[in-house]
Amino acid sequence: MAEIIYDDGADLALIESKTVAIIGYGSQGHAHALNLKDSGVEVVVGLRPGSSSWEKAEAAGLTVKDVPEAVAAGDVVMILVPDQVQRHVYSEQIAPNLKEDAALFFSHGFNIRYGYIAPEAGHDVCMVAPKGPGHTVRRQFEEGRGVPALVCVEQDASGRALDLALSYAKGIGATRAGVIETTFTEETETDLFGEQAVLCGGVSKLIQYGFETLVEAGYKPEMAYFEVCHELKLIVDLINEGGLTKQRWSCSDTAEYGDYVSGPRVIGPQVKEAMKEVLADIQDGTFARRFIADQDNGGLEFKALRMENESHPIEKTGQKLRAAFGWTSVDADYTDGSAAR
Ligand code: NAD
Ligand code: MG
Repeated sequence: MAEIIYDDGADLALIESKTVAIIGYGSQGHAHALNLKDSGVEVVVGLRPGSSSWEKAEAAGLTVKDVPEAVAAGDVVMILVPDQVQRHVYSEQIAPNLKEDAALFFSHGFNIRYGYIAPEAGHDVCMVAPKGPGHTVRRQFEEGRGVPALVCVEQDASGRALDLALSYAKGIGATRAGVIETTFTEETETDLFGEQAVLCGGVSKLIQYGFETLVEAGYKPEMAYFEVCHELKLIVDLINEGGLTKQRWSCSDTAEYGDYVSGPRVIGPQVKEAMKEVLADIQDGTFARRFIADQDNGGLEFKALRMENESHPIEKTGQKLRAAFGWTSVDADYTDGSAAR
């Protein structure tokens, strides 16, 4: 089994002796900046002048500068702007202002793995990738816990890059939960595969098809929503606690038997073959090229797909039900129902 590194395997003093520039203040950016600051690390946040996050970060007690100034101040520069804009921000604002021996940090390996960013030899290039959404990274930290993370080194210029990455991981609370060492290639390829085939892509399509099947057969959309979407979280919580076995233990024998006989009919071997094709496109760069080509074209395909999916009938039904029952909390920066972005 891969070695798991906890608090005692990381030395906070290393990151405490550095100024960390966090570029971007979105989901991950706000969590890293605030957790590091609370751990006693000197943090400067780099943002675009006029960014709506500027005031938010300052109100949270952080020092904010524009990106070039923040980079110039950073011994460690963590790039937490969206993956598709990183290469532009890097070439235009980061590289020209980077201290000679500054370490470059990422939370996802996309730009390094596919060669969109190629840092010069003098810099440590590391990744600290929390395995959870940024808002959870912050919430868990405030509660004295942490979100597990992956750590890796692409370029070790200082000879201490891994120690520095572990120190950073400790600063954001990740070593409280446990950290695993990997590589940029393994992190990027497995992360993309997981979100495309299972977590985001696979699950979304499964929910949509389940909803459509029930509604087209004449059942009420509200019933369909409950059965194929609302309860999913309850099932996933059980899987998270004790694997598929605990989920099957907790559900009725009827549900468990149906799982065994009908699951493989819905998700047949052809799905695994399709998964292999998705993985091959990730490995050979086909997916990355398609994503970036579309982004360079103004994200036209991306926006059209987003609109198409936001207008699926299950979204309306879900909105109404969640508002009516009021059982869910909504993140402050996410307004359910406002598709405008
Ligand atoms: P995000 O979209 O939530 O936030 C991006 C931030 O960058 C925002 O503050 C935005 O204002 C800023 N920004 C955008 N364009 C900019 C520019 N040109 N110059 C300066 N700032 C700019 O992003 P995120 O989801 O936190 O993702 C950041 C990185 O973390 C990505 O590499 C992503 O793969 C990785 N990651 C994200 C999550 C997650 O929970 N969302 C989890 C693991 C890893
Ligand atoms: Mg992931």
